[in-house]
Amino acid sequence: MSRILIVEDEQHIANGLRFNLEADGHDATVVGDAESALRLLLGASSETAQAFDAVILDVMLPGKDGFTAAAELRAAGQFVPILMLTARNSAADVLRGFETGADDYLPKPFDLPILLARVKGLLRRRQWNEQEPPAPETARSADADVYRFDGRTIDFSAMEVRVGDKVHRLTVMECELLRYLVKHAAQPVSRSAILQDVWGVSDAVDTRAIDNFVVRLRRYLDDQPGTPRFLQTVRGVGYRFVPSPKLP
Ligand code: CA
Repeated sequence: MSRILIVEDEQHIANGLRFNLEADGHDATVVGDAESALRLLLGASSETAQAFDAVILDVMLPGKDGFTAAAELRAAGQFVPILMLTARNSAADVLRGFETGADDYLPKPFDLPILLARVKGLLRRRQWNEQEPPAPETARSADADVYRFDGRTIDFSAMEVRVGDKVHRLTVMECELLRYLVKHAAQPVSRSAILQDVWGVSDAVDTRAIDNFVVRLRRYLDDQPGTPRFLQTVRGVGYRFVPSPKLP
């Protein structure tokens, strides 16, 4: 059973979330503002802080907003996984959410099954982060969702990239972006298509969120991220995943 903190001032949304998380076998706590959440998560000292496995954090809250709360938690060394609920469906909000330390985000209004799947993703990731060392390849189930190219392995079910003996853990959104690029291998995909299909954001006012993600993915995949081979920039369009690039 996982302990999940819901930070949401809209009572009907908070109650719906609690009901469904409890039905999924979790222990859910609801608070209506960021200050209460910070008190619970940080406590007066580390001894009085309460342990949660994940936080669902609304952005629009009375008083301190969700961005500020996430930033304060990270600054205080609290790295509980955060799923941020952004009210406005804008790329700027998404970018700000990730910059302040959210692990994942969902624009409102959201579909409940999607939210529950995202929470599951966060919890799974947390469990893996606590399991050291990662399970060897031979111990994985046969139906693992794995893609191999050029000496690299992307394990979508374990949410990790393996290059030689290096293992990079992926966030939910890194994993989804990589899956999208792999699915469209060798084709140029535009930033607005990525925003729409991966992030679910339709007003592409700011595409820097994607660029930051691609920079991170290149760091995982490329030996020399300065000269990206697998995740190429297509000028004026976006990006293209090339599984077997020709040597320069
Ligand atoms: Ca709210």
